[in-house]
Amino acid sequence: AEEIFIRSEKMSIAGQLAAGIAHEIRNPLTSLRGFIQLLQAGMENKEAYYKIMMDEIEKINTITSELLFISKPMTDEKSEESVTEMVSDVITLLKTQANLFNIDLLLDIQDDVVIYCDRSQLKQVFINLIKNAIEEMTNGGEILTTIKKSNNFCIVEIIDQGPGIPNHLIHKLKEPFFTTKKNGTGLGLMISNQIIENHHGLLEIQSEANVGSTFSIHLPL
Ligand code: ADP
Ligand code: MG
Repeated sequence: AEEIFIRSEKMSIAGQLAAGIAHEIRNPLTSLRGFIQLLQAGMENKEAYYKIMMDEIEKINTITSELLFISKPMTDEKSEESVTEMVSDVITLLKTQANLFNIDLLLDIQDDVVIYCDRSQLKQVFINLIKNAIEEMTNGGEILTTIKKSNNFCIVEIIDQGPGIPNHLIHKLKEPFFTTKKNGTGLGLMISNQIIENHHGLLEIQSEANVGSTFSIHLPL
């Protein structure tokens, strides 16, 4: 029974994805068709249309590149990697964007942990989660990432001072295409969760209104 349950749940995610993709890509395509018709009709103010058309193409492009990432086969490119090193790399990468919004990216290494993992995929997870935190903290503040060992798990926590997530929405975050952002794709957390599960770990989300959110990644050692 367990197996049947898991399979049907997977299929429903594939179904959700397919429906979501169709919807998310059709909208900008419809808009592009409209603008081409306007241009064919010889409208003035072409420059303004080109700009919107480029934005619509960019939207399709973002969605497809995120989807390509999901469909990449899980080639077994695993090796022993330092979690501190992966997280530090990501923080260096995101520092400029954080500075722009007056956000400090802090790192607290309680244990230096080495895990057997796909380095580029796990870095993608840290990028997605820290980016999300940055995007919520429009008034600046601190994002603290902690790395520690507990029992047979490595735990990486990303703690922000953003507005928090209403309780009734937390379970929606890992669903494809759930987004509250104007230019969001709603794929980041779904992909991150998938990668973590592929490493036999789990992603826990806690949040308190006006205090912030904590995303905890648990990875078996
Ligand atoms: P996107 O970033 O494209 O919206 P994600 O899957 O990364 O897609 O995130 C989905 C949604 O989860 C976001 O739109 C936001 O509403 C919510 N969310 C994610 N991270 C946080 C966070 N740190 N604080 C508050 N809300 C968050
Ligand atoms: Mg995101």
